[in-house]
Amino acid sequence: MIRQAVLEYDHSDDALDRLDDLIDGRRAHVLHGQNGYAVVRDIHPAIADYPATAFRGECTDAEVERINSFDADVLIAVGGGKLVDTAKLVASLRNVPLIVIPTLASNCAAFTPLSVVYEEDGSYDRYDMFRVVIERVIVDSRVMMRSPYEYFRAGVIDTVAKFYEARYLSGDSSIDAGVNTGLALAEQCGRLVELDLSEHAFESYNDAVRFAVDHVIAIGGAVGGFGDAGTRVAVGHAVHNALSRFESSHSFLHGDKVGFGLIVQERLRRSADVPYLEAWLKRFGAPTTLETLGVRTSDIPILVDSVITETELQQLPAPLDKGYLKIIFENLQLPIYK
Ligand SMILES: [Zn+2]
Repeated sequence: MIRQAVLEYDHSDDALDRLDDLIDGRRAHVLHGQNGYAVVRDIHPAIADYPATAFRGECTDAEVERINSFDADVLIAVGGGKLVDTAKLVASLRNVPLIVIPTLASNCAAFTPLSVVYEEDGSYDRYDMFRVVIERVIVDSRVMMRSPYEYFRAGVIDTVAKFYEARYLSGDSSIDAGVNTGLALAEQCGRLVELDLSEHAFESYNDAVRFAVDHVIAIGGAVGGFGDAGTRVAVGHAVHNALSRFESSHSFLHGDKVGFGLIVQERLRRSADVPYLEAWLKRFGAPTTLETLGVRTSDIPILVDSVITETELQQLPAPLDKGYLKIIFENLQLPIYK
């Protein structure tokens, strides 16, 4: 099935200036976070005139329930991925359209018709798929420029992962039109490695950065919308989930752990891209050894078992070679000095 949620995507230097025209007198309600909302309010003070609810930080059933009591014709989500996931669930439950103003260039939540739901204790619960109408995604470069570079950097890695994971699951092409389109978009996401996306470039917000932001927020989300199960997450994200069981990895961003997972995945499939991928991640400041992630040699058997468990629900082309996976982790324990 092909699924899309977004009617309009506006990434420009004055995108916020058109918010009130878009609302056009309808009763609107704002769901907002902290830091990003302050930036948005600074650029477009009139947003503070709409009734608003402050997000508590996690996408949980209780949070959806709490926010669900507003009375409005349109919901406006201002914030990061978890906030957008929560707003999509609320909008779909209430049958109202949604307008999304991302405040981080780190995720494709604004472009996917699904939400990742967590338990009250912060552990992963499930993901829900539903029909939601996102009238417009408003990406204002004035907001993006003031967002933390670290999140963008990790978001780029998570977007490059779309290419490696989609290729792992479905190869280079498919006779299914949706999957084939997803693969073509994923390949374009993979080309972000060729761009200069350094902190210096991000600060200048040049054309390469704009191109990357479009891929992180929009094109990356469309990959799964077209390709469905054929282009979703694979071993890279399974390694991320397994690493997340270790307390020491909690200080690393999602994209950083996924990047490490991609090295494991590409080594497993004995890909010729391994040295190139590793060099890029290293240059980009992402962890490329287990030591950096705080995982010890004695933890490797636990890590291997959790990766196997994590991939059991995925439709992988072939079961993982457990022995080889263990050797890969052992080789990735310490940096190799040449
Ligand atoms: Zn991811």
